[in-house]
Amino acid sequence: RAIHEVPNGYRFFTATMDSELTARRRLEGDLRRAAGRGELVLHYQPIVAVKDRRIVGFEALVRWNHPTDGMIPPGQFIPLAEENGMIGPIGEWVLAEACRQARSWIDDGLPVVPIAVNLSAVQMRRHDLALLVRRLMTEARLPPGRLELELTETAMMEDAVAASRVLADIKAMGMELAVDDFGTGYSSLGRLKRFPVCKLKIDRSFVADVAENDSDRAIARAIISLAHALELKVVAEGVETEAQFQTLAAEQCDCVQGFLFSPAVPAPQAADMLRKGGF
Ligand code: C2E
Ligand code: MG
Ligand code: MG
Ligand code: MG
Repeated sequence: RAIHEVPNGYRFFTATMDSELTARRRLEGDLRRAAGRGELVLHYQPIVAVKDRRIVGFEALVRWNHPTDGMIPPGQFIPLAEENGMIGPIGEWVLAEACRQARSWIDDGLPVVPIAVNLSAVQMRRHDLALLVRRLMTEARLPPGRLELELTETAMMEDAVAASRVLADIKAMGMELAVDDFGTGYSSLGRLKRFPVCKLKIDRSFVADVAENDSDRAIARAIISLAHALELKVVAEGVETEAQFQTLAAEQCDCVQGFLFSPAVPAPQAADMLRKGGF
């Protein structure tokens, strides 16, 4: 039996791999053309102050509006772009677009809040990242405080020397930096202190059960008190319920972001929210 099963299993396996590879190649080719064809779009998710539920910023989240496959979330194409080098042009488009959006909200007289942009580890390894950011901000005539950058804890620690150099340059331009998905990586606290960051974002995985699970609540409390001891602000990600919100409020969390208030939405809807000011 085993002898018959092995070739069958093998054939099945290669067929799957073939079609996966074909699908991946197609997507890769499509992705190379996506930015030029205007298929990438930024959606904006409000970041809300716990104390008064007012909007204190937005996070820009990229989506790919694929002509046949529909809206593709970043988790399905950013890793691909990081592998094949497309993250360079895509990341640059994201930064430029966020700058243009911030400028257009200024021109429309909307309240002043920063837009946060996610950076990948690959982008951070560019020695000219700070120069690129400066050029894009100048082109959009954007004051430094209007753009923030988010870098995952893992990306920051992976190449800590490069990261601290680039981040110091960016900080010197007057921009704020946040550590994203905090709690999922392995930061040494000593190192964290040496990065010029002003914000920690508690990963969604600790927020999901924060209202019911004592150890998740203890983790959230520990992150918040660590952050405050280092004079950093804390944003909790993925807040979906009032119970999660109340628990995080009781633990002195500064800001929240999540479906309780709004998912990431297209720019015109984000502008409407900003006009209203809060929730
Ligand atoms: P992230 O930066 O941690 O962004 C938060 C993710 O959580 C977003 O997913 C957001 O839509 C989702 N989210 C927010 N609130 C809730 C909630 O209440 N419940 C649930 N279930 N999810 C919530 P999204 O947009 O799919 O982005 C996933 C990740 O892709 C981001 O995680 C970020 O790491 C990456 N990403 C997004 N845009 C960019 C970009 O422009 N450049 C780079 N390099 N990475 C990006
Ligand atoms: Mg983020
Ligand atoms: Mg995050
Ligand atoms: Mg996350």
